[in-house]
Amino acid sequence: MKIKTILYTILLLVILIIAGFCYFHFYNKKMIYPQEVYAPILAYHGIDDKKAVTSAYFLTQANFTSQMQWLKDNHYTVISMDKLYNGLSGQGKLPPKPVVITFDDGEQSNFIVAYPILKKFHYPATFFITTSLTNQNPDYMTWAELKEMVANGMIIGSHTVNHINIAKMRLERVEPELIDSKKALETNLGIKVKYFSYPNGGYKNRDMEVKEAGYKIALTTHQSVIQKINSPDSLYALSRYEVFGNLPITFDQIFNPTKN
Ligand SMILES: [Zn+2]
Repeated sequence: MKIKTILYTILLLVILIIAGFCYFHFYNKKMIYPQEVYAPILAYHGIDDKKAVTSAYFLTQANFTSQMQWLKDNHYTVISMDKLYNGLSGQGKLPPKPVVITFDDGEQSNFIVAYPILKKFHYPATFFITTSLTNQNPDYMTWAELKEMVANGMIIGSHTVNHINIAKMRLERVEPELIDSKKALETNLGIKVKYFSYPNGGYKNRDMEVKEAGYKIALTTHQSVIQKINSPDSLYALSRYEVFGNLPITFDQIFNPTKN
């Protein structure tokens, strides 16, 4: 009887140890600070053969397609902003070679040219919209076009109402830009808007305003493929690589900074 009790106690202890190990290993993935994470985020504006002749903010269709093919050939996993958030906040794991694709401003060619190419590659992307231009300026996407992209797995984020550099604005003008753009997107598209991109990359002393407005991530234009995560608030100033039509370096050099 005594031996049986001892055996049961040992068995119970073994089960508890295994359960504890499993909990810490599989569920308790807390982020350790500080941390440097390899997570390239690309920033595009427009894909338009005609406009690419005169503006560096536009890429030709052929150029953009070959960059998307490069990611595939080099075994990168294009992940959504949701997956990036999970990975950088310790709620999930990032794949070994992650990359996030983003577009700023909501320019018309995002829907007409970029979106079909992204769909062909099965790449999710996030589009940051300047809401005062939606349905107002024919050079920018409409609510119907944004809705179609949302229905096909694309993510929509805010790029303010009026495309202003919030780092240079008085604080009382910043809040409506953050809140009203979020509301407009949520009302018109029936989605929850969680991500923000700073117009002109201006974020100094404004990252905590973005957090207070209810966003989870905010993107700068600090050209790096490494995310320096010092605290949960680092998610409001993530680095992003702006891809220009006249890019002086190759994709290989961008993604492998040690080769630069
Ligand atoms: Zn912009």
